[in-house]
Amino acid sequence: MDQVSLRVGMTVWDDEVEMKMTFPAGPARLESLLPVFQQVANSLVDLAEKRAAAEGRVVSCRKGCGACCRQLVPIGEIEARQIGRLVGDLPEPRRQEVRARFERARERLAEAGILSALEKREGFVEDEIAPLGLAYFHLGIPCPFLEEESCSIHADRPIICREYLVTSPAVNCADPKPGTIDQVELPGKVWTALARAGSAGPPARFIPWVPLVLAPDWAAAHPDASEPRPAEELVQSVFAELARRKGGPAPPVAGGRTG
Ligand code: SF4
Repeated sequence: MDQVSLRVGMTVWDDEVEMKMTFPAGPARLESLLPVFQQVANSLVDLAEKRAAAEGRVVSCRKGCGACCRQLVPIGEIEARQIGRLVGDLPEPRRQEVRARFERARERLAEAGILSALEKREGFVEDEIAPLGLAYFHLGIPCPFLEEESCSIHADRPIICREYLVTSPAVNCADPKPGTIDQVELPGKVWTALARAGSAGPPARFIPWVPLVLAPDWAAAHPDASEPRPAEELVQSVFAELARRKGGPAPPVAGGRTG
């Protein structure tokens, strides 16, 4: 099968970083390229972690700490469909078990009176998520994928989960208060770039997002109707969104085709 290789030149803070990406040639939908963007996010997070370490700040996130997995987790439409498919592909009885957790979470949001607000996601910009996020957090709803305080879908976890790293004590994440969480600064947020590039709607100031706990239902009601496009073009569109943030990586600089 023909493959496309792209060399991506990025200015990350003061350094020039080059990354090579390879994916099947030909028209594609953005969702099929999700592993590429997960890899990009992993690379940027690695750089951010090293930069924090050089400043004497050590990441306190550890396996077995699921404090942040009771927060409101916003994901883009592409990733919401991935979560929907991932749940659908689980073997039984695991699938029923996880679906029941999603249903229970929905019921609790409805009982608390915040379900409809979460379903009107287009009414929020990034900065306005906080009050809703606080109300959500106080409900203490664990992510349906959380098992013994660890992520049961670690390799497939949403990009925002990869991008959330703190250097403050883990206990602070379990009881977040203003000014107590020291998040590792990233050179760009891949999840928001992907969310904007992957939205079916017109470009807007809103980040088109779906709460992770509502993702399977949302995905079932919103099948991907996008037209396949050249993969290089799709990759470029995400990097263009990423570059819009001040200091973010620059778009891809070169492409090639391998057999
Ligand atoms: S997907 Fe995994 S890392 Fe993300 S909130 Fe759920 S359990 Fe936590």
